[in-house]
Amino acid sequence: MDDRPAPRVGLVSLGCPKALVDSERIITQLRAEGYELSKDYAGADVVIVNTCGFLDSAKAESLDAIGEAMAENGKVVVTGCMGAQPELIRDKFPDVLAITGPQKYESVVEAIHKAVPPKHDPFFDLVPPQGLKLTPRHYAYLKISEGCNNRCSFCIIPQLRGDLVSRPAGDVLREAEKLVKAGVKELLVISQDTSAYGVDVKYTESKWRDREVRTKFFDLSRELGSLGVWTRMHYVYPYPHVDDVIPLMADGKILPYLDIPLQHASPNVLKAMKRPAHQEKTLARLQRWREICPDITLRSTFIVGFPGETDEDFELLLDWLDEAQLDRVGCFTYEPVSGAPANDIALPVPDEVKRERQARFMERQAVISERKLAAKIGRTIDVIIDDTDEDGGAEGRSMADAPEIDGVVHLRADRPLRTGDIVRVDIEDADEHDLYGTVRE
Ligand code: SF4
Repeated sequence: MDDRPAPRVGLVSLGCPKALVDSERIITQLRAEGYELSKDYAGADVVIVNTCGFLDSAKAESLDAIGEAMAENGKVVVTGCMGAQPELIRDKFPDVLAITGPQKYESVVEAIHKAVPPKHDPFFDLVPPQGLKLTPRHYAYLKISEGCNNRCSFCIIPQLRGDLVSRPAGDVLREAEKLVKAGVKELLVISQDTSAYGVDVKYTESKWRDREVRTKFFDLSRELGSLGVWTRMHYVYPYPHVDDVIPLMADGKILPYLDIPLQHASPNVLKAMKRPAHQEKTLARLQRWREICPDITLRSTFIVGFPGETDEDFELLLDWLDEAQLDRVGCFTYEPVSGAPANDIALPVPDEVKRERQARFMERQAVISERKLAAKIGRTIDVIIDDTDEDGGAEGRSMADAPEIDGVVHLRADRPLRTGDIVRVDIEDADEHDLYGTVRE
């Protein structure tokens, strides 16, 4: 019998939801082996820093986090996107125990074993079958593939994570089923390019329940739609075959919500960005989706100040925005990422101009967003509860709001609510981001 206390692992997870999913996998594996989680550096025998290396600012943040973990604890294993550039880390922190690239769960776990061997106790608590989640219990991210076959000129994700590798549909569905059994009410489907799901395996079938399911965006959406929870689709490019999924939204099988990272509207900029689906007639496609599913929420992100972006390109983008009437929009200024071909395409746009364009863009969208949200006043909608307080107040999200990136619904209720409840709410007010309402009895 091993009488040592259970070894404790600290975790700092930086970056996007995709990195969060990786962290969850690592932690699930370690918990299964009897490790415990430590909330602070002092209580941890070893610390994992899951880094983000996409933008230079994210790299700086990752290096800061590694520095802090080294200073506070001293036994540090680095993983995640920055792990693909170990020299950057070793230069500053030669004493980190190990550096592993993204997706290298086994190497992270191995490094932890070396630093603090697992405790062998046949009676330790086994991990719940659905794994451990770092997101709140009522929603979970579901990663369906890793890597990307596109080569957008501003992005180094394919260099860091390789080409697209899709998980078999059966595996994804089994994971989704377990999550639902464990109480998850909302699944957030993520990848680098969700509509390309299965291209790498030629849409091959795999077994789930009593049937064969193709590893394809439509088939996966249909089956996820049969699980009886909210399913939200992220990172979907507007390829023609996405049209087939919209009727599933109109029928209430999956959420009428699409997150489509468009990045620009000017053909010149899109071409320079080498964006997937850049020749598609996107406005006509969005229009068709709205005809099939009038309640659909369309969210997108854009980059302004891309090298070579002219005033005309930018004005075209603003006009496009007026026509597209998207519901939710994020806008970033272009930041050069080391190793991305875009940096050498044309002269950079001065920082001042970038910031001015970003402000004008957000102003234009704020008007659209405010009008769209105001149109919801007087309606009664479903809201999933994220947080409650003791005075009958709560915060939730409608089908139109993804966690962390969209707005929220502030609400009042005369009865106790729990996180994860889905309630009917009368919408009484709105501003440019959020809705306000009262829960129906
Ligand atoms: S689609 Fe483009 S931006 Fe997205 S991960 Fe692939 S290469 Fe990067």
